Amino acid sequence: MGETVKYILDEAEMPTQWYNIVPDLPAPPPPPLHPGTHEPVGPEDLAPLFPMALILQEVSSDSYIDIPGEVLDVYRQWRPSPLYRARRLEKALDTPAKIYYKYEGTSPAGSHKPNTAVPQAFYNAQEGIKKMTTETGAGQWGSALAYATALFGIELEVWQVAASFEQKPYRKSMMEIWGATVHSSPSPLTAAGRAILEDDPNSPGSLGIAISEAVEVAAQTEDIRYALGSVLNHVLLHQTVIGEEALLQLEKAGDTPDVLIGCVGGGSNFAGLSFPFLREKMAGNMAPVVRAIEPAACPSMTRGVYTYDFGDTAGMTPLMKMHTLGHDFVPDPIHAGGLRYHGMSPLLSHIYELGLVEAVAIDQTECFEGALQFARTEGIVPAPEPSHAIAGAIREALACKETGEEKVILTAVCGHGHFDLAAYDRFLSGDIEDHEYPEGKVSEALSHLPSW
Ligand SMILES: *Cc1c(COP(=O)(O)O)cnc(C)c1O
Repeated sequence: MGETVKYILDEAEMPTQWYNIVPDLPAPPPPPLHPGTHEPVGPEDLAPLFPMALILQEVSSDSYIDIPGEVLDVYRQWRPSPLYRARRLEKALDTPAKIYYKYEGTSPAGSHKPNTAVPQAFYNAQEGIKKMTTETGAGQWGSALAYATALFGIELEVWQVAASFEQKPYRKSMMEIWGATVHSSPSPLTAAGRAILEDDPNSPGSLGIAISEAVEVAAQTEDIRYALGSVLNHVLLHQTVIGEEALLQLEKAGDTPDVLIGCVGGGSNFAGLSFPFLREKMAGNMAPVVRAIEPAACPSMTRGVYTYDFGDTAGMTPLMKMHTLGHDFVPDPIHAGGLRYHGMSPLLSHIYELGLVEAVAIDQTECFEGALQFARTEGIVPAPEPSHAIAGAIREALACKETGEEKVILTAVCGHGHFDLAAYDRFLSGDIEDHEYPEGKVSEALSHLPSW
């Protein structure tokens, strides 16, 4: 008898609701504030940027929100996604631990991002929107939204962080195949981009800068809306399909997790995996340790300050209370482009402050080593972002080897690395180094925090 390595669900078992963790928390998260008045922002303040359906989800106090049938129809193309038991990796590590991973690389765009891109495009289309803007780091969000807007007949303009625009040209091709227009950011097309270029014509860009550019264009044009691929409550909400499925799949496997480990950029795939498990933990049904892994070069949770800051570099977004390295901090161009964000989801930051999750920072060479070991045992080539989750899971499994503990580890491989082969080439030829924690750059950026 072969051992089971893959746990699948029937279409009929697919979750039909998203889970909102907010009403279950012991204290509500601090509200976003208007940068001028410092009053909490209301739905009408966000209306120039987002459709009302998403704004209402952003502030919802309902525990569950129905997934529209049109969205479920698209989800069914790749959902439920598989949960794997990493038996070959376990053997290679010689660990008594069990390692499970939820794999989101089977979506058309190759990551978890379509889980929110599809509903975001759907709600915009429902409100008659014909054009949207967005930013993208590594290109995963831009390609996910390009795919989703193509399905719903919406035009899309994308600002891609310059460092990734250079490193990952095929993500741009992907976005163009789905009909989007792509600009390298900072670009001369916006006031925010021009201001950065004046200072530094060779700026590698950052998510914060690219957000400023995309928000500027949407805010100035009546019928253009903006979409964000992470950070906001409604994005984390949409991603909870990952954790809801994983709960059912682990149940089929007959296991409950002792440790959940995920990578964090803005926090959405980690929240998507962990929030349904945190619900079970708060209800006393299980007691997993929940651990976020961030890049040592951009460690907003472990080294950032918990305070109100802007979500973008130019200071156009509402002030959000979050763990931040400062809105004008430009992280070194590490290969996990999707993790190069100065801040962290305010909801996840709040949950971290409540002590419900812990955080660890790992250098990129350890992550690439883990990714190679994973690819050579499990076959899947992970994106550089989830290589952080894999490195965290390997650390835990090796610790279990020391102690002899048979822990159940659950992690998420939230995207494949087929567009990241240039980064792998560089690692294989010994050309990738760790970036020291940029103490000076961070304290400089933290000195520019907004006063409030
Ligand atoms: C965007 C992205 C991330 C980082 O974003 P989160 O919101 O933290 O999930 C991580 N991994 C992949 C594959 C991504 O596309």
